[in-house]
Amino acid sequence: MSFLIAEVIVDVSTYHVDRPFDYQVPLEWVNVIELGCRVKVPFGPRNVLGFIVGLKKETDVPLNKLKAITQILDMEPVLTEEMLLMAKWLKNNTICYEIDALQVMLPSALRAKYEKIIKLQQSQSLPEEVQYIFGKRQQANFKEFERAGLLPLLKQLVAESIVSIENVVKQQGNVKEIRMVQITEDQQLVEQALEQSKRAVKQRLLLQWMCQHLGEILSPQHICEETGVSISVLEAVIEKGAAQFIQEEVFRDPFTKKVSRTQALQLTEEQRGALQALTTAIEQQQAQTFLLHGVTGSGKTEVYLQAIQKVLDEGKEAIMLVPEISLTPQMTERFRSRFGEMVAVMHSGLSVGEKYDEWRKIQQGKVKVVVGARSAIFAPFTNIGLIILDEEHESTYKQEDSPRYHARDVAIWRSEFYKCPIILGSATPALESFARAKKGVYTLLSLTQRALHQALPTVFIADMREELRQGNRSMFSDSLAEAIRIRLEKKEQMVLFLNRRGYSSFVLCRDCGTVVQCPNCDISLTYHRTTEKLKCHYCGYEESVPKICPQCQSDHIRYFGTGTQKVEEELFKLFPEARVLRMDVDTTKHKGAHEEILDTFGAGHADILLGTQMIAKGLDFPNITLVGVLSADTSLHLPDYRAAERTFQLLTQVSGRAGRHDKPGEVIIQTYTPEHYAIELAKTQEYEPFYEREMFLRRRSSYPPYYFVALIQLSHEDVMMAAEYAGRVADWLRGNLSNQVAIIGPTTASIARLQNRYRYQCLIKYKIEPNLIPVLQRLLAMYRAEWIKQGILMTVDLDPSTI
Ligand code: ADP
Ligand code: ZN
Ligand code: ZN
Repeated sequence: MSFLIAEVIVDVSTYHVDRPFDYQVPLEWVNVIELGCRVKVPFGPRNVLGFIVGLKKETDVPLNKLKAITQILDMEPVLTEEMLLMAKWLKNNTICYEIDALQVMLPSALRAKYEKIIKLQQSQSLPEEVQYIFGKRQQANFKEFERAGLLPLLKQLVAESIVSIENVVKQQGNVKEIRMVQITEDQQLVEQALEQSKRAVKQRLLLQWMCQHLGEILSPQHICEETGVSISVLEAVIEKGAAQFIQEEVFRDPFTKKVSRTQALQLTEEQRGALQALTTAIEQQQAQTFLLHGVTGSGKTEVYLQAIQKVLDEGKEAIMLVPEISLTPQMTERFRSRFGEMVAVMHSGLSVGEKYDEWRKIQQGKVKVVVGARSAIFAPFTNIGLIILDEEHESTYKQEDSPRYHARDVAIWRSEFYKCPIILGSATPALESFARAKKGVYTLLSLTQRALHQALPTVFIADMREELRQGNRSMFSDSLAEAIRIRLEKKEQMVLFLNRRGYSSFVLCRDCGTVVQCPNCDISLTYHRTTEKLKCHYCGYEESVPKICPQCQSDHIRYFGTGTQKVEEELFKLFPEARVLRMDVDTTKHKGAHEEILDTFGAGHADILLGTQMIAKGLDFPNITLVGVLSADTSLHLPDYRAAERTFQLLTQVSGRAGRHDKPGEVIIQTYTPEHYAIELAKTQEYEPFYEREMFLRRRSSYPPYYFVALIQLSHEDVMMAAEYAGRVADWLRGNLSNQVAIIGPTTASIARLQNRYRYQCLIKYKIEPNLIPVLQRLLAMYRAEWIKQGILMTVDLDPSTI
């Protein structure tokens, strides 16, 4: 008997189960079902989405308990066997639910969406308004009842078993199809039709044309245009069997503009050396990780492009990761201009449909290169020849939700699977990466010169304390104001960089010093000028700006700080003639906004590009000769052991935007702490002295890369509960881990209250601890089984990007 059992990972992480469940495969599907297909299965009272991760002949589940799969959603598996293996690895190495690991690999169109529906059980005695909703159907959407205000009545009907409420899996992932005409391959059919339409001149014309196009698939519009007949004539001919209408799948096109083709550049000596090493690894199929350390403008991207060309020549595929969406327009353009239609993109700026289409282009082998943000590391290629992480030090490569993976680690896993090399590229590598390169775990490739031998920009540090002493209270030092003035005169372009995410304007009372805080979080509210509202960036809480201080009733209350909008205003006062483009979260909300702003700037329609982190990297415009950093210190004082590293990286990156082509560049960094080593060393833009200095400090305070850290965070609405369970976590860790491991905490988190929940954390520092993962898994099991019912929320992060 062909009795087949499927092992299914179900989409029920809220139930806190994490193992496959056995289901019977219905007889008619036994021959079609495959590993990696999505199915619908009954789970408790619900119908949920699941993934087939195993197929077998036997099960321990008693036959009367064994349920059957209710539907297969895919004829072709959406997950390859490689991905199923990768999910297991992710589950064990980031300690997440397997379902989370499976779902993260798929475009959102293929993840489960649920919908509540109301099913009619008996139609007698149905109230009129409910009858109206059902009409002739047997089921209706829950929302229709909600909209009609019938929820109380619905409750009653459920109690009387007249209707039932069910959760159903909503099929997602719409393939876009258009109607095409397929002309028959059979000449006889056309001749028969000609025979039948002796007097219909137009039809004969069309049929004769079709004789020349047997077997072709063309759009109806195209056929009508070519032959000059109307659509009704075409329909008549189709009636006679000479052709047929078919539905053909089309891909939505995420690219808004055409690009012109470019050729490979003649490489510099250093670039050639790097490419040589990469080519060897590609040809010899070595799972080797290269750290391409190249100063800004050294031509790393050209090396990537030529290495990918080698991969394509070998008939293989390449993944190119960029740290954030704002960098993809420029990078994709460079890639498309070299590889044309072979390139797909994947980032959060695409619509759900576009993402789905790009994903299928990759899966069906229609493209060979993908350029994308973090999740593109899961691109469903099956013959990968090279993986590249550009700006590898960026923290956006780490996902902060479950599964808490780092794209670098996934890249290494896939490179071992496919026996292909990885390139980690950066002007300022993560300390961990450089340390590994020094140890020989990674192979170091260095580009020490800019590609066209331009000098690195000269960096000037403006001491803002001194400015204040001289009586300058503006946010521009004299030297920066002067430098801007000169560029405006010379019609050269500038980048002004505000070193913070979004804005940081807060409202402060001048009399009592009160800063208006979020009622749900221990964080000050941020002033938004466009809406004139105060907003919490963590929970979304919003209120109007108070006219008087809530603490002392003084009316001397006003906003402080420098958001990008404030800088823009100040610029306008000082340089009314300057054309300023602002690029921040506010101006880049709509689709394609990044691209538009950069195009405008690139075309020379603005003098100053003013922005936050978004403009620090990747920009390559020949006319930029000045970079101004308004306040270098802000990222320096974050409570994070990586603060100095982040600051150095940011300053070096942003400085690298200046003087990349013929004209020399200048950088002015404004700071209140010019003596800090991260700022002093950013002045020379030399990576290694910074590396040495920072490594010394890391060793002294036992931080990565000398030690590994893991972070456990825990929260509860009640402060006593949060503190008590945080204590239990610390005790559990101390009792179960070896005494070589340092456990710090419990301490309150750096934001002690968020969305009305009190937050605690424990930090684990270790060098080697084989027990760590099993111990943490047992802790999580305890949490899932018991603590969660007490209202505790807990997360475990084995590689936190901030502490
Ligand atoms: P990076 O990625 O290291 O910052 P890019 O690849 O963007 O550097 O290169 C900087 C500039 O130098 C670009 O405008 C690029 O076109 C140019 N370039 C790179 N390599 C060469 C080369 N071998 N010959 C001429 N120009 C080059
Ligand atoms: Zn809040
Ligand atoms: Zn006050």
